[in-house]
Amino acid sequence: MITRRQVVAGGAAFLVASFLPGTAAAYQQGVVPQFEKSPQDLGVRSLYLPDGKLLVAHSIDAEIYMFHHEAGSALDWVIRQALAAGRQFVTVNQLADLVLGEELTSGRYAAITFDDGYLVQKQAVPVLDRHGVKGTFYIMAPSWQGDGVNSYFSNDFKVFLSEEGHEIGCHTANHPPNLIALRQVNFGAYLQEVFGAKLQLEDLIQAPVNTFAYPNGVFNQALVADVAMVYKAAVTTIPGRLHSAPNIYTMPRVRVN
Ligand SMILES: [Zn+2]
Repeated sequence: MITRRQVVAGGAAFLVASFLPGTAAAYQQGVVPQFEKSPQDLGVRSLYLPDGKLLVAHSIDAEIYMFHHEAGSALDWVIRQALAAGRQFVTVNQLADLVLGEELTSGRYAAITFDDGYLVQKQAVPVLDRHGVKGTFYIMAPSWQGDGVNSYFSNDFKVFLSEEGHEIGCHTANHPPNLIALRQVNFGAYLQEVFGAKLQLEDLIQAPVNTFAYPNGVFNQALVADVAMVYKAAVTTIPGRLHSAPNIYTMPRVRVN
């Protein structure tokens, strides 16, 4: 359908796809050309079309499990299943480094994420320790006073998790139900949720906070652009397990509970 032309620029090899006669028109009509090999098989990060559009990017197979409430026996089962499937555990920050890095890994990975910092998630720590796994905890900034319904981690516990080598990710300051709406009606408050919360958390744990989780999985292009200014990666509630540079701010996850 199309031919490939290898180009070396700045020491990095990438491929530019060239259309065979007659197929360019099909592409213009929305027919996406297929390659018989993945970029990984070809040893390149991405394939670009002659018009500069990204055709396909090198992707990493990683299941990012999403936990909210129960974090004991379900967690143990999930870790065992992933290990049995040959998956290697990383934090979301480490996974982002793999996705964005130069090396083309063909390994299969897994990451454990906990949203909201519910007190019940304390159960997870001994389970993670037993398997030597470090988790990623998406928690609210230290100014968060709770919702009066659920119990949440103390700020001391957030520091403890960080000191134990778990990743602390940002999940805003007040968990607004709809960040898109907040951005429209109160931009100052919105900035505090996306940027201020990160600074608060970094001040608390005295370490960088590199990744973000959109509250309730709500995001749009404007939010992605803002998040990209200060974070390395962001996770959503979209189901999936393939991660590539173009979706580093909309990483899919696998919902457990
Ligand atoms: Zn949440």
